[in-house]
Amino acid sequence: MEVWVNKPKCTGCQHCKDVCPVGVFELMNRNDKDKINGGDPAPENEKWEGKSDPAVVEKWKDVDDGHRHFADDNDGTSGGMSVAVNGEACILCQACLIECEGECITIKDDTGTEYKSIYA
Ligand code: SF4
Ligand code: SF4
Repeated sequence: MEVWVNKPKCTGCQHCKDVCPVGVFELMNRNDKDKINGGDPAPENEKWEGKSDPAVVEKWKDVDDGHRHFADDNDGTSGGMSVAVNGEACILCQACLIECEGECITIKDDTGTEYKSIYA
């Protein structure tokens, strides 16, 4: 299984890390660009270049749900940038796909079929 995060769309809500039963995700500091981009197999147009998607920012910047959005650092509950550092462990339970605020997670199985997050 391959798992990656579309970085410009990640709010840093940390829901993916909180729900994943096998520890696929790690939240990294947003200033650590090289570490973020080296941490999962996101395609070039989904890598982190330091600028969030304006539509995602507009949707989430003022939402007060107990999770920080677009913070540089992670405080243990939220903030930072999610990176799928352990995608090979994914069991395709789909929990992260349902919980991802930024609708920015892709999972590709061994047949090449891709599954993408949709936030309800
Ligand atoms: S689908 Fe995979 S990455 Fe997502 S929560 Fe389940 S095991 Fe973790
Ligand atoms: S759930 Fe989605 S938006 Fe939230 S931190 Fe994880 S990848 Fe980013």
